[in-house]
Amino acid sequence: MKRILVTGGAGFIGSHLCERLLAQGCDVVCLDNFFTGSKQNIIHLIGNNYFELVRHDVTDPYKAEVDEIYNLACPASPIHYQYNAIKTVKTSVMGAINMLGLAKRLNAKILQASTSEVYGDPTIHPQVESYWGNVNPIGERACYDEGKRLAETLFMSYNRQNHVKTKIIRIFNTYGPRMMPNDGRVVSNFIVQALTNKPITIYGSGEQTRSFQYVDDLVEGMIRVMSTPDSFTSPVNIGNPGEFTIKQLADKVISMTGSHSKIEYKPLPSDDPVKRRPDISLAQSELGWNPTVNLEQGLAKTIAYFEDYLKHNKLEF
Ligand code: NAD
Ligand code: UDP
Repeated sequence: MKRILVTGGAGFIGSHLCERLLAQGCDVVCLDNFFTGSKQNIIHLIGNNYFELVRHDVTDPYKAEVDEIYNLACPASPIHYQYNAIKTVKTSVMGAINMLGLAKRLNAKILQASTSEVYGDPTIHPQVESYWGNVNPIGERACYDEGKRLAETLFMSYNRQNHVKTKIIRIFNTYGPRMMPNDGRVVSNFIVQALTNKPITIYGSGEQTRSFQYVDDLVEGMIRVMSTPDSFTSPVNIGNPGEFTIKQLADKVISMTGSHSKIEYKPLPSDDPVKRRPDISLAQSELGWNPTVNLEQGLAKTIAYFEDYLKHNKLEF
């Protein structure tokens, strides 16, 4: 039985990953400091003898005997990662050092949840893994973008210098059930606004684009990357190449929910990337991976989740 550590396991993506690993017969340690994650996300797993929940902060060293580590601990939504920018850098960088140190001691495989944000506001489109990016190192997004870039540097350095078995995935915008309703990310914001008939807040003109991937596709990609041969260390884009403007997303959510919400335009946050779409040729050729859930199918599942959530919970914002 494989023993697996998932840092950030009580978060949106982490909770889906823990669920999937348990279903595959793994023994899972879920580590989280509950900054943006919650026990609610993994409460259905508590009681499973092969699931362990540990309250811990990755900026402090941690010891456990495991075979694989998925390092997801880091706030992902701009409002949360900018709330305490210094802590975000520490989480990315010290978290990576602590987890890589653990992987080195255990001779374990370790996968880093990196991000399309390493490409910044990209000057090539779609983004390929060989593109070095266009990141403002002193902007408001830098704590996240540069933190994740440095984590990639650390992963490659531990691989070259200490032969740690490292994997890096660059995750593009992911959505699905268990996103926090007040998380600030566009899909959850629009769905909650539409379901409560509140104005849909479009930042800027709404002409900026994103490519949205459903969480189950991402989890499948993560597991496939982890099982690549040890010699495979290249970062891999994991995302859905379907590209939509934010205005198109707003219109889709309004029509799928039958909402009476009107659109309200708000200022564009600084350094907001103009366009984003993954080139997934590497994931296709190396992993045989392709996304299987299109935007309408994924939105339908996510809308159903939030409808149910709003029936049973009070919104706290
Ligand atoms: P999330 O905020 O729901 O999950 C992050 C989890 O990490 C939370 O449970 C949080 O409490 C935990 N955490 C934060 N700081 C920690 C610390 N110092 N010590 C221990 N735990 C800590 O976000 P998510 O969307 O599930 O993202 C998971 C990972 O995937 C993150 O590393 C994020 O950067 C990456 N990612 C996500 C997306 C996306 O679209 N969701 C895109 C690119 C990359
Ligand atoms: N966005 C928006 N309205 C919102 C939330 C976000 O128009 O209520 C925009 C945001 O400015 C960005 C895009 O949607 O252009 C995606 O934002 P998100 O925070 O989800 O992810 P990221 O910018 O990190 O890709």
